[in-house]
Amino acid sequence: MNSFKHIFNTYDWDEVYDSIYNKTSTDVEIAFGKSKRDLEDFKSLVSPAGMAFIEPMAQESHERTRKRFGHTMQMYAPMYLSNECQNICTYCGFSLTNDIPRKTLSDAEIIQEAEFLLNKGYKHILLVTGEANKIVGVDYLEHVIQLLRPYFTNISIEVQPLSEEEYRRLKQVGLYATLVYQETYHRVTYKIHHPKGKKSNFDFRLETPDRIGSAGLHKIGIGALLGLEDWRTDSFFTALHLKYLQKKYWKTKYAISFPRLRPFSGGLEPKLAMTDADLVQLISAYRLLDEDIELSISTRESAKFRDHIIQLGVTSMSAESKTNPGGYSVENESLEQFEISDERTTAEITALLKQQKIEPVWKDWEKAW
Ligand code: SF4
Repeated sequence: MNSFKHIFNTYDWDEVYDSIYNKTSTDVEIAFGKSKRDLEDFKSLVSPAGMAFIEPMAQESHERTRKRFGHTMQMYAPMYLSNECQNICTYCGFSLTNDIPRKTLSDAEIIQEAEFLLNKGYKHILLVTGEANKIVGVDYLEHVIQLLRPYFTNISIEVQPLSEEEYRRLKQVGLYATLVYQETYHRVTYKIHHPKGKKSNFDFRLETPDRIGSAGLHKIGIGALLGLEDWRTDSFFTALHLKYLQKKYWKTKYAISFPRLRPFSGGLEPKLAMTDADLVQLISAYRLLDEDIELSISTRESAKFRDHIIQLGVTSMSAESKTNPGGYSVENESLEQFEISDERTTAEITALLKQQKIEPVWKDWEKAW
């Protein structure tokens, strides 16, 4: 298969790193002055030199977002179905060797969770599982999508990478989008943080968005776990991946998320801390690179930060999220995948958005199948 891997392999991490860190304020000025930017401009915008331009970048990001998306914010909720996992990932509470109670929701519990979220207003749902093929493989996912389809207008998944054929199967029963994060595009660092399990195969994960695109899913979400490696270089590779996918699978929509490494019990410290200002710079740089891309922010981020960022380029957000299976309504002892930072209720977030003259969108008819 002719995939992103072939393009990716022509790049050298250290060279990309150096070219970003060597950008000057003149490079940033040139990039900022353009109306249509390329990946070289993106490097300038995310570079340390770009930080001096953060205010005009954020302003342009705000204006472009309002022009393209209006005064709206797409709302979604994650639903964790299972914390079973066969992988070791150094940064995750569900990692195989963590001695935690494991749980996979029954059909009745899934419906209970669905009803809880429906009552809060959610019509877009993101189903999340660990990677345990025998317990939460494609048969299980197909069954859950069929079970939930009458409840939600838009069902997405963030689960183990699947084959093209398996994505096709899930599309047929109503799957709308798949999110798959590379975590880091640095091969050596990737191996350190994914030492065991199917996820330790860097190339298989790297080629997953190609399989999703070939299967014809409506939307693909990509990103890196910010903090595992240099966030600027990882974000360049995410942007490179995005531009490749957009060209090849041009009918598909794309979304980028910005998960920053969050603590879990016994957790990992970021190699390179990313400040709030860094994240504003990055979000603005993506918006200046691409007007159409959906930019998503989760409850990993603090309430204070989210209050500010909702005007600066973000187009979709979650609220009141739980990151353990059954976390909304099912009594159980399962541990969360990572700590939530913004714990405000959906009603509080809705009120905040309205106060900022942004209309929360619960159901996107255009996206309905
Ligand atoms: S990040 Fe995903 S694959 Fe890794 S341990 Fe956590 S649930 Fe499993």
